Amino acid sequence: MDKNTLLQVWPIPAFDDNYIWCIHDGLSALVVDPGDATPVLHYLEQKKLSLTGILITHHHADHTGGILELLNILGASIPVYGPANNEIPGRTVAAMEGDEIEIKAPHISLKVFEVPGHTLGHIAYFANTQSNISEPMLFCGDTLFASGCGRLFEGTPTQMNQSLAKFAALPNNTLVYCTHEYTLSNIRFALAVEPNNSQLIAWSEKAQALRSQNKPTLPTTIGQELQTNPFMRCDQAAVIAAAKDISGQHDLPSSAHVLAAIRAWKDRF
Ligand SMILES: [Zn+2]
Repeated sequence: MDKNTLLQVWPIPAFDDNYIWCIHDGLSALVVDPGDATPVLHYLEQKKLSLTGILITHHHADHTGGILELLNILGASIPVYGPANNEIPGRTVAAMEGDEIEIKAPHISLKVFEVPGHTLGHIAYFANTQSNISEPMLFCGDTLFASGCGRLFEGTPTQMNQSLAKFAALPNNTLVYCTHEYTLSNIRFALAVEPNNSQLIAWSEKAQALRSQNKPTLPTTIGQELQTNPFMRCDQAAVIAAAKDISGQHDLPSSAHVLAAIRAWKDRF
């Protein structure tokens, strides 16, 4: 395969609202967070792709449940990259902050970020612009969603705030491949936080149109999330005011406190 052929990234729908992202060059494929093997096997067969690697962001079953079946059926030698700080079935490469993962086919270089919050061991994979990638790509698991963020099952608001700050520092045109289609419900909440955010209102209309045609609302971009995602806007006056109002706290001294207040609100929204 020509090194300069652009890589393709496609969603493989799984369960009710998961996306298993497939990165491929027309011959070789990686999948991210295969919670279920069956739709992955169907997709690979349909597209005549061979699986050359599995990338795992965190230990939850809807992201890892298909790994062993894929290895059993397609070959036990397929490398499985996953967070160093969790038990991941079949993991062969324990990935940590700052690691650079070089994959030959499909040809891609991935940088690892540790992003605790949703789980403590959660990692994300970032591909900067390369000869076969025209825009940077982020595979963020359940840390960041379009207009939302993952529930804090294991980590603290401070950890999630720091994790989202790592993403905020990436280029605005970075394509963000979230693993759930939660966008419309996230937008309903985001509009409760910031009813006058004009970019959010426009995004709401676009997202509703996509869903009414049964199309994914993803990938999103870092630039769009900085404009529309309340969890990435905890330093903005409108978000701070809404967080104070809902929590009844007059003093929210840091953006982590603001995130804690709006996350608690979202959990009961
Ligand atoms: Zn999860």
